[in-house]
Amino acid sequence: MSSSRPLQVSVIEDLRRPGTRRHVQRNAVVDNLAISSASVPSGSEVDVDAVVEVIGDDLVVTGAITFAWVGDCRRCLRSVESSSTVRIREVFERRPVEGETYQLGDGVVDLEPMVRETVLLALPLAPLCTEECAGPDPERFPAVVADDGAEVARDPRWAALDDLRFDDES
Ligand SMILES: [Zn+2]
Repeated sequence: MSSSRPLQVSVIEDLRRPGTRRHVQRNAVVDNLAISSASVPSGSEVDVDAVVEVIGDDLVVTGAITFAWVGDCRRCLRSVESSSTVRIREVFERRPVEGETYQLGDGVVDLEPMVRETVLLALPLAPLCTEECAGPDPERFPAVVADDGAEVARDPRWAALDDLRFDDES
């Protein structure tokens, strides 16, 4: 089996025997899995562990995607390394519905678009090093409560702004 495109899965046999279920396990490096707050380290493999099943004319992929990620703690700004597992149940069909189902090719499915979308949605928007993280220096930069009640941490990089004097008399 070629491993140059590990997320391309041949399903010729599956399509001949609707109703059969098959375990598929793949690891692959997927480039550019990043949002502003977190990313999958380059070279880090994403793991797909799933059951593939033909239902009618469609292929259903059920299982989990696991990936490592790095980001900056939203409170103390230290770098955070962690991993996440996301459960998936996705439908692949000949004429996919954009945003809902994925393309079923001619005897093959490419899992990469599903992996990409799933990981990008699952990367944390506001990583924390620990739930209890108090920030870099709680005495000087206490967490403050925003108008909507959400707790936000004072970014120490903004502290310099406190020392600025604005002179708006002209
Ligand atoms: Zn922290």
